[in-house]
Amino acid sequence: MDVKPQMKQAIFLVWILMVPAGLWFTYNNYPPNISVNWLDLLAFLLLTSIVAAVPIVINNMFIFLIQWVALATFLRFGLFAEIIFAQIAVVVLLLKLRILRKGELFRLPLNLNMFFLVSFISGMIYYILGGQTGPNLTHDPRSLWLAVLYVVLNYFLNQIMVSFNLFFIYKIKKSFFGKDFFVETVTTLITLPIGFVLYILYNQVGLIGLLFVGIPFVSLSIIFNLYYSSEKINEYLQKASEIGHQMAERLYVDDVLDLFIQKLSEMLPVDYSYILEADGEVLKLIRRMEAGLVMPNESLSLKKQEGICGMVWSKQKALLFTSRKEWQQYTTDNIPNDVESIIGVPIIRSKKLIGVLLLASKQKRAYEKSQLMIIDILCSHFAVAIENANNFEQTKRQSERCALTNLFNYRYFETLLTEEFKKVANFERKILSLIILDIDHFKQVNDTYGHQSGNEILRELAGRLRKLVGGLGTVARYGGEEFVVLLPDMSKVEAYQMAEQIREMVSNWPFTLQQSLELGNNQQKIMITASIGVATAPEDAEDSLALIRHADRALYVGAKRAGRNRVAEYSSC
Ligand code: GH3
Ligand code: MG
Ligand code: MG
Repeated sequence: MDVKPQMKQAIFLVWILMVPAGLWFTYNNYPPNISVNWLDLLAFLLLTSIVAAVPIVINNMFIFLIQWVALATFLRFGLFAEIIFAQIAVVVLLLKLRILRKGELFRLPLNLNMFFLVSFISGMIYYILGGQTGPNLTHDPRSLWLAVLYVVLNYFLNQIMVSFNLFFIYKIKKSFFGKDFFVETVTTLITLPIGFVLYILYNQVGLIGLLFVGIPFVSLSIIFNLYYSSEKINEYLQKASEIGHQMAERLYVDDVLDLFIQKLSEMLPVDYSYILEADGEVLKLIRRMEAGLVMPNESLSLKKQEGICGMVWSKQKALLFTSRKEWQQYTTDNIPNDVESIIGVPIIRSKKLIGVLLLASKQKRAYEKSQLMIIDILCSHFAVAIENANNFEQTKRQSERCALTNLFNYRYFETLLTEEFKKVANFERKILSLIILDIDHFKQVNDTYGHQSGNEILRELAGRLRKLVGGLGTVARYGGEEFVVLLPDMSKVEAYQMAEQIREMVSNWPFTLQQSLELGNNQQKIMITASIGVATAPEDAEDSLALIRHADRALYVGAKRAGRNRVAEYSSC
């Protein structure tokens, strides 16, 4: 909704040229019927301002219900008074909605122009067609019918002006018969009879008539708004518990983080969201979402007292800022330049702070206290879900790994091999090689240096294998002193070369023993060798078990029996 500066100036200019002149013209041609007490006029103005200050709010749409007072004002005091009152009502409404920010000031003359034109045109037509204004219209059926025409005109002109403004000033094309049209029609039909009632009552009973109509109307508007906001909170609470359930179902930390940050940005006006994790005495950024996109985490870390997040941490309390002015002096957290509103909420589990959530919007006053409460509730759901996911991931990691070497264990390897074989069967993967390694005469090593030393060798070998294979494949401990390496997309020749590198890496470099039986606590270096078998799918095997069996066969028949410390491939034996 970018409106050009020239356009904004033009809107101001139109007001200056049009409205005072229009008022002068109206005053001279249709002088106001203000033979009444000034107090009465003031009471009408007060009622106009109160009604303007309590618009009904539905789904962030403000419904301005001023037309009925405007109608009574027009019929009783004439067009001049109605124009002035409507101009004041617009100022009150815009102040109440707090939309007159810097750069948005043009919205005031824009609305004033619109209201002036609507009032002026329909009022003029009413007068030209012979309509009267003043206290005695109830005895003038012609004026009453014309008043109905005035209402209809007022209503249509208003609709046309709104569409015109949207199209020519905001460049938004909207269907004329959209939701706004519907709401406007219904509210006009409901409120305008009240305008006639106000006119009649005022004429018959005087000022007290304003109270009879004004008090119930304003009270109903307030009650409706209270009811609506409690409905809204209920809806938020329901959503929060739904999101809580969904997060609880996620097993992995990443999934919980993604879901949390996505749901928050669906629920609230969020331009930037950050989740920081407490790690010792610092806060580390673990998720960052900007303009609806998950971004890479900067290596941002904050100390306990640093920035807004640090403040949330040390106070262990949610904070709400409605504009840049309120938080500017605290920031060291690299908050983007265009941020205005900020919400910071501590994420607490078992009375301990585990992180901080920071939401930011480019809009001023984007968040309310009630939303802060809902986010607080969501954060406690989130804390539980994260703890569960962490536990799950840890248990899973432990169940997949061998405790001695921290390599994947046989169970994990078996699952991986089955999955990889499926890919081979589906032609998603052309080739899959497997290396099996068995340390030579390992029993003797144990017997000579002790079981602990044997374990040290297994650990060191695991480290060497991991380093050598790197990202090319997966290393696992197959059992005892046997290791496997699964190499997707690696041909037999390449796998053989790698096996040869592994063999040399074992046999050429001594292993260090720290806790040898023989030498007390002194370090000792020993040389070992390993025998290795290689097989490749699909050429050597059509299923996963056959691939293991054939690699194993190559190892025992081709390498061990042939004298150990060598590599053998399946086809050669
Ligand atoms: P070969 O060259 O024929 O493979 O001889 P080997 O002695 O390695 O073969 P064997 O299968 O007879 O012995 C394997 C030995 O590995 C037996 C066991 O003591 C040892 N071993 C198996 N698992 C572990 C372990 O976790 N730690 C230690 N220290 N030794 C283990
Ligand atoms: Mg063995
Ligand atoms: Mg062995």
